[in-house]
Amino acid sequence: MVFSRKPAAPPDSDALQRHLDALVPEAARIGSVHVNERCSALVTLEIDPANPGHGESLRQSIEAAAAAFPGISGASVIMTAERKPATPKPARLELPGVRHIIAVASGKGGVGKSTVAANLAVALAAKGSKVGLLDADIYGPSVPRLMGLASAKPDQKDGKLQPLEAHGLKVMSMGFMVDETAPMIWRGPMVQSALLQLLRDVAWAPLDYLIIDMPPGTGDAQLTLAQKVPLSGAVIVSTPQDIALIDARKGLEMFIKVAVPVLGIVENMSYYCCPGCGHRADIFGHGGARAEAEKTGVPFLGEIPLDPEVRQLSDAGCPIVAAKPESPQAKGFFSIAHLVVARLEEAGRPAPRIIIE
Ligand code: ADP
Repeated sequence: MVFSRKPAAPPDSDALQRHLDALVPEAARIGSVHVNERCSALVTLEIDPANPGHGESLRQSIEAAAAAFPGISGASVIMTAERKPATPKPARLELPGVRHIIAVASGKGGVGKSTVAANLAVALAAKGSKVGLLDADIYGPSVPRLMGLASAKPDQKDGKLQPLEAHGLKVMSMGFMVDETAPMIWRGPMVQSALLQLLRDVAWAPLDYLIIDMPPGTGDAQLTLAQKVPLSGAVIVSTPQDIALIDARKGLEMFIKVAVPVLGIVENMSYYCCPGCGHRADIFGHGGARAEAEKTGVPFLGEIPLDPEVRQLSDAGCPIVAAKPESPQAKGFFSIAHLVVARLEEAGRPAPRIIIE
């Protein structure tokens, strides 16, 4: 036990835990921190039994650091050789026969998340992979329209919903089950269970990639989905505006929190090229997403211009990658797909350092 000065005010044990967490190496962990009414701290230090290292000297230095923490009158650190999991993780859904599940997310709606998800999926399929597209944007399912399946209804076979087929993809959306225009005033748990059902009860397998068009935002529904679905990685879509980037950053933080590799950021509606004279205008202040990517160490996957043809073809039910694969816009999506595959391969190796200030 180490004693320090007399306390002025009882300290916050969470703050003490955060302080101590930052001091322990990876092979060890602060298990619990308890501060009693006399401001004395009792700390458990969990060390890996397979790798006890310099356990006793670490214990002493943590004890000294705890005792020196503002407001602590004395500290006692007990070492245990048993490591418990950091937080109980929610049960993970299993999707046998699906190799990679990729979430396409954005901090807010209207930035072109569904457009990017659909074109990315078509680009991956065009390269010979088996690809599925799940529209999890339950509040505004736009994939049925985007894929030219607005009035389609899925069949059931052997107790499983059969995905629809379009542009070489297997497609499923809540929009097939309910009217697209019906306002969906669903609470979080209903959204989650509907989404998990669309994953579990649909005959997806066999697939190389399942692209999930996530609900916009970073609320509880998105967080639970990111935790429960075995995601291989996430792609964040943003426009260059500051406000969209702030939202994109929240998305980034959410995936980092649940240890899902962020495969990269796409800047959509990046600039406008006049079809008449070819003049390029940076309507939303181009380049913000690339700068954000560089700052945080997340890969930048590419930029897609604001282009009336992208919207017209989407509205007509044929994403530009399927309708005009030779166009510069489609080539942008092919390049993004290529980088996503490369990043997935890298994601199996130690992740690069991502900095969130
Ligand atoms: P989100 O899924 O983020 O809500 P959508 O993909 O539905 O966004 O796109 C919102 C609207 O913007 C749609 O009408 C879509 O066709 C249009 N749009 C998306 N990306 C582009 C683009 N690069 N150029 C032109 N219009 C676009």
